Amino acid sequence: MSRAIYPGSFDPVTLGHLDIIERAARVLDELIIGVLVNNAKTPLFTIEERVEMLRECTKQYPNVSVATFDGMTVDFARSVGATVMIRGLRAVTDFEVEMQIAQTNHIVEPAIDTMFFTTSLQYAYLSSTIVKEVAYYGSDVSKFVTPNVAARLREKYAEGRHTCPKLGGQAR
Ligand code: ADP
Repeated sequence: MSRAIYPGSFDPVTLGHLDIIERAARVLDELIIGVLVNNAKTPLFTIEERVEMLRECTKQYPNVSVATFDGMTVDFARSVGATVMIRGLRAVTDFEVEMQIAQTNHIVEPAIDTMFFTTSLQYAYLSSTIVKEVAYYGSDVSKFVTPNVAARLREKYAEGRHTCPKLGGQAR
């Protein structure tokens, strides 16, 4: 029985994440998406909102579930009995960082291995930050996220109190 975790911020979940989820769920028995509670970056969406969006987007996969975690990813994997960690690779820049994390995690917990999925080409450029920037300027994000996430992004930025992700901290 192969049980894996797919950790990340998912602020918010994009079609790039969903592509990895769908492909990982096909080759593994069970996939638990782990949403990181505390991150160095200040998230746009609360942890509850990020979990809700992920649940809405993955309800068609019976072997996929969503949980939250804080602290070390290996501790989360161990706590749910997972032996595999899934990560997505977009560009070469991801590779260097991800290699370092994977090597460190394997030393900390040799029983856990990292499995990489390379991005599908149409999502190679896609990140949650890019999606937020496009949404901030009121442009259409339907090619990047599912309709429920697009609606939530519209609501968030309609509140008018959030800053542009790229400008970070500068008031609108
Ligand atoms: P983190 O803050 O840990 O980078 P993210 O939510 O940004 O969390 O990403 C979670 C995982 O999904 C990471 O492994 C990241 O490389 C991967 N990922 C994000 N966007 C894409 C994409 N467009 N294609 C493939 N993998 C992706």
